[in-house]
Amino acid sequence: MTMQLSLKDKTALITGAASGIGKEIAETYARAGAKVAIADLNLEAAKATAEAINQAGGKAMGVAMNVADEAQVNAGCAEVAKAFGPVDILVSNAGIQIVNPIESFAFADWKKLLAIHLDGAFLTTKAVLPGMYAKKNGVVIYMGSVHSHEASKLKSAYVTAKHGLLGLARVLAKEGGPKGVRSHVICPGFVRTPLVEKQIPEQAKELGISEDEVIKNVMLKDTVDGEFTTTADIANLALFLAAFPSAALTGQSIVASHGWCMN
Ligand code: NAD
Repeated sequence: MTMQLSLKDKTALITGAASGIGKEIAETYARAGAKVAIADLNLEAAKATAEAINQAGGKAMGVAMNVADEAQVNAGCAEVAKAFGPVDILVSNAGIQIVNPIESFAFADWKKLLAIHLDGAFLTTKAVLPGMYAKKNGVVIYMGSVHSHEASKLKSAYVTAKHGLLGLARVLAKEGGPKGVRSHVICPGFVRTPLVEKQIPEQAKELGISEDEVIKNVMLKDTVDGEFTTTADIANLALFLAAFPSAALTGQSIVASHGWCMN
């Protein structure tokens, strides 16, 4: 079967899609023909992103959702299914970053970060799976990171959460395989989104180096060409994985990082 990168008539739910990587995935999926639900903590920004997609001729809606809150996840997913039909593609992307050495990492911050990344992935998956199983068709993509495979100083909770997503994706690939559901983890290198812009001065302060040095000697040090990965790179990969026509490709973690990580 020749592969076509079309998502015509599919319903896609993307969490954390009011900004950064998720936003670009939503725009890319809409251009490929999907009806896209932009679920975010920030409803105003989610609605603005949806409105821009609709203006450009796509079909999108903004949905209020704290991915760490079971009731909000279930209500949001039900709202999307009612408006656009059952979810065919879930991109569990919402995430935050908190940097601190372990000895001064607040327990509350540890729990908050794990809840958004791991509870969020679990709860959204659980909410959309019955619909996917009923259709015997679906794809779940988790937004991992090079930090699903590598460690960096100051990022204990983030590295732990991103490694954890590999486990969830692999279990889902096994449980979902016989029921037509595939799963993947996308593992980006550094992408200049608000999440990363915030870290540059924080890391400079924590490590006692300049912001330029953080970019060159910390973030991009091990890339093959000193380049940032872009939101478009990740959105193209997310489109490829969502459109892939068979279960030959499932349970994978795919790294896009300018060669920083070659797992
Ligand atoms: P971003 O800050 O631009 O966007 C994150 C979005 O998630 C925001 O719109 C925010 O409102 C939303 N969000 C935060 N908490 C939420 C919650 N509890 N419920 C619902 N929405 C919530 O960040 P980004 O860089 O686009 O990151 C997106 C994902 O990509 C994250 O999972 C991040 O860990 C991952 N990632 C980013 C990079 C990078 O370099 N930017 C690299 C690897 C992985």
